[in-house]
Parts: sequence; structure tokens; C-alpha cells
Amino acid sequence: MQIEDGILTTIGRTPLVRLKKVFGEQPVELYAKLEFLNPGGSSKDRPALAMIREGLASGRITEGTVIVESSSGNMAISLAKLCAYLGLRFLCVVDPKTTEQNIRIVKTFGAEIVRVTEPDPETGEYLPVRIRRVRELLLEHPNSFWPNQYANVHNPLAHSSTTMQEIADELDHRVDYLFCGVSTGGTIRGCAEYIREHGMKTTVVAVDAAGSVLFGGAPRKRLLPGLGAAVVPPLFRYELIDRSVQVTDLDSIAGCRQLVRREAILAGGSSGGVIAAVRSMLGELPAGARCVVILPDRGERYLDTVYSDDWVRSHFGDVEHQWGEGV
Ligand code: PMP
Repeated sequence: MQIEDGILTTIGRTPLVRLKKVFGEQPVELYAKLEFLNPGGSSKDRPALAMIREGLASGRITEGTVIVESSSGNMAISLAKLCAYLGLRFLCVVDPKTTEQNIRIVKTFGAEIVRVTEPDPETGEYLPVRIRRVRELLLEHPNSFWPNQYANVHNPLAHSSTTMQEIADELDHRVDYLFCGVSTGGTIRGCAEYIREHGMKTTVVAVDAAGSVLFGGAPRKRLLPGLGAAVVPPLFRYELIDRSVQVTDLDSIAGCRQLVRREAILAGGSSGGVIAAVRSMLGELPAGARCVVILPDRGERYLDTVYSDDWVRSHFGDVEHQWGEGV
């Protein structure tokens, strides 16, 4: 199976662009890494490629191997794309929170959807049930492979060897602040490892969702996918993170609306969260500080939520005035 070929060669090397408008007159130098320009529409293309590549190199993936993963969003789409290209069968475990649009995209690539319908009776969460279902499927299919993005070290490695290296190369290794959304912790860990290994003096800021347990606090309902976690993933490395900022769903929506109207960038919910985090710290950043934000996914899949006034009103009431001029 040839992995460095065809559409898969377009993963990574995403553009880094200067943002000059999103905060109006701003005292900082702001750059955005456009991860939504990966062919699968998100940063998850990178870890998906790295995990499958390693599975092939180690011989754990061969012809006829069934790939099994629990994901409701971007990782599912990235793996579906890779498996379609490589001719591998992909069983994708989803729960009722997965949007019909994502299920249709995954199915269009030829993947098979396995649904869990009931949450765990003890915790009320779907995650434990999805993981149990993955383990059952692995047993049912002796030649199977679970990339397991929450525990696979090739998830952060993909970001240290590509995402952060690309940013550092373009900016001559001078980045004062890196703002990165967190969920599995793969992106931030990989980027921070590169930063430490290369002696860069970058303050690494984790952007987490309010209601996530990653930086303490009780789990609470979150409407937007992408940011935060209900349990701390085995990959997570706190010692690499200098600061954390929590953003609410509404902060993320406001950030998305500002991005699309002021920078003409239609990005997903977590991208708005990262913008909101920078805004919350603007008063304390030194003048001229060079800041990089990672924008993980594209906005078209959020037209019925983040970008729908009716949806926003139904969850938060009349809040549009909070978004500022021209938004
Ligand atoms: N934003 C979006 C849209 C995502 O899908 C994810 C991953 N679930 C993240 C941010 C966080 O990335 P990571 O899992 O590498 O921490």
C-alpha cells in the first residue's frame, strides 16, 4: 500500500497568514495556521496519516486489516479518506451527538457506521460505551487496528514533525505566544515538544472549553464539538503548557463571527474559541508580541449551529449585540 501518493500528498504544509483585522487596531502581530485547508478539512489529517503510516510500517496494518475508531467528527472524516485511498475497511463508532452531515461524509468515503445509542448508565457519557464497542469490534475482527487518537504517540508526533516545524520555519523560529485548542492534547503536545526541543521562547497557551475537565472543574454540557474533554486523555502533558484559558460556547461563536466578517475566514467552532482566548489576553500581551493561532477546521459544517442566528437565539437568547460592530 502506497501512502505517500495521490490526494494524501496534499496533507500538511498549510498556509500561515497574517490577521490584521479581527481585533481592529491591535498591538500584536497575529498569524493564523489554516489547518482547515488540509484535504479532509481539518488538522486531524496529520495525526490520521501518521498513525496509519506507523501501522503500515510496523506491519500491524496489512491488506485486509479492518480499521476501527471511535470518533464523531474530524478524525472520522480523516480516517475515512485515508482508508478509502488505501482500500481498507473502516468501522467508525459514533453516538447520537454525531451530526448527520458528518455521518454522510464518512459514509460517502465508503466507511461503515456503527452506532451506540445509550449513554453509560453510571456517568451519563457516551464515550465509555463507544470505547466498549470499539473493543468488541476488535475482538470480532482478528485482523483489525485501532489508531486510538487519545493514546497514540503518533498523534502528537505528527504535530511536532510537521505543524510546528512549518510554523517555526516560516517565522524564523520566533514565536512569542502559541494559542492552541485542546481535546486529545495531541496538537498542543506535539507543538510544545518541538518548541522545547528547539529552545524557542514561546509561551504555550491551551484553549479549553468551559465545562471540560482538562484544567479542573466538573464536566458540564458543551454544545460545540472539538474543544475540551470529559476525561483526561493519556496523551495529555500538563508540564508542556504555560497557561490555559477557558472559553464558553458563546465566546467561540462570537470569535467565529468576527473571523468570518472581518477576515473572511469561515472556520469551525474551536477556531472562534482560539480567537476569543487571544482577545481575552490582549490587554496583557506586550506590544509587538508575535502570536500564532491554530485554526483546526472549516466552517461549512457549522452552518446550522455557530452560523445560524436561529440556532444561536434558541440556545442563548438575543446576544448578537455582543459580537461588535459589523458582525
Ligand atoms: N478543534 C477541533 C475542531 C478538533 O476537532 C480538535 C480535535 N478533536 C481540536 C480542536 C483539538 O485538537 P487535539 O485533539 O489535538 O487536542
